[in-house]
Amino acid sequence: MINTDVVIIGAGPTGLFCAHQLGIIGLKCEIIDNLDKIGGQCIELYPDKPIYDIPAISECTGEELTNNLIEQIKPFNLNFHLGERVEEIKNENQKWIIKTSKATQFNSPNIVIAGGVGSFEPRKFFIQECEKFEGKSVFYSVKDKTIFQSKKVAIFGGGNSALDWAIELSNSSKVILVHRRDEFRGDQSSVDKVKKLEKNGKLEIFTYYQLTSVKGNESLENIEIKHNEGKIKSLKVDYVLGFFGLIMQLGPIFNWGLNLDKKHIPVNTENFETNQKGIFAIGDICTYPGKLKLILSGFHEGALAARGCFKYARPDEKLRFEFTTTSKIVQSRLGVKTND
Ligand code: FAD
Repeated sequence: MINTDVVIIGAGPTGLFCAHQLGIIGLKCEIIDNLDKIGGQCIELYPDKPIYDIPAISECTGEELTNNLIEQIKPFNLNFHLGERVEEIKNENQKWIIKTSKATQFNSPNIVIAGGVGSFEPRKFFIQECEKFEGKSVFYSVKDKTIFQSKKVAIFGGGNSALDWAIELSNSSKVILVHRRDEFRGDQSSVDKVKKLEKNGKLEIFTYYQLTSVKGNESLENIEIKHNEGKIKSLKVDYVLGFFGLIMQLGPIFNWGLNLDKKHIPVNTENFETNQKGIFAIGDICTYPGKLKLILSGFHEGALAARGCFKYARPDEKLRFEFTTTSKIVQSRLGVKTND
């Protein structure tokens, strides 16, 4: 059980800046995200695209913004729990018990939901037998590429992820790239590379094919793929990778006893608390009159929610308002060296 002042659900820009605001008022937090990386929509949906409306930054990409936010919270040495979805929350003795999909448990007086449009989940194969092999021989993301070394890997999909992994793994694995169409959606440079690798016998490509069955007992033995015109091929492979993009699902948040308004969580704009004491919602997931789904709004909401958390985390203390420019306490929390 991890005890902390605040659990933040979501490591998008809003969750990250809220962590900063908690840090400067002296509260500890733990951050959980279902994705295997930090940055939410900015990193998952538009890492290379320029953003022009972050205050005082005339232009930065989604990735640059994320890196800056990570840099800004470095002094607080925060723990991230990535690749874990928050499944369940319950109230015990005026504290919240939070459980994730990997059975990590937290005990905290506060939860800040910065869940954006919901948790990002990979789109999966429709075939039910795939579930049996998921995480062992069937994967929707790559965490450790060394397991594929010298193995036969079937990669499904037509976008950048499928193409990039086909290129990368063709160095040390036998790769079969399968796509249900003839045209790939990825960058032209990656498409050209994949075609060149095929020409040089470094990988095989099957277009107009889809996965129809996976067979094996403990481990995967072979798969069948079916052509649009009905022809079926049986292939012996060790691993299957599916890259079909992500879907966003509000998921378990639906069942936490929170008031909801069309997949959004209504909050009061004084401290961004929900209808449940000690549960706050900020960023794209919250709603109130005049809400703008912009990163800058999420920053403001995170600053006020952090102050809202203080009263539950330190019920016997009064929070003093302080500027970062002049407060020695805040500066010491940030690790700023002063002359005093
Ligand atoms: P998100 O960035 O969505 O992050 C939420 C995170 O919570 C996700 O990583 C998700 O996996 C996680 N999560 C959700 N539920 C759970 C759970 N149960 N357990 C664990 N993790 C969970 N905004 C601007 O201000 N300027 C722009 O120019 C701009 N351009 C954009 C361009 C595009 C293409 C898109 C799609 C959006 C753009 N936006 C822009 C909007 C901006 O990206 C969002 O407002 C912002 O990302 C919201 O941040 P957030 O932290 O609230 O949520």
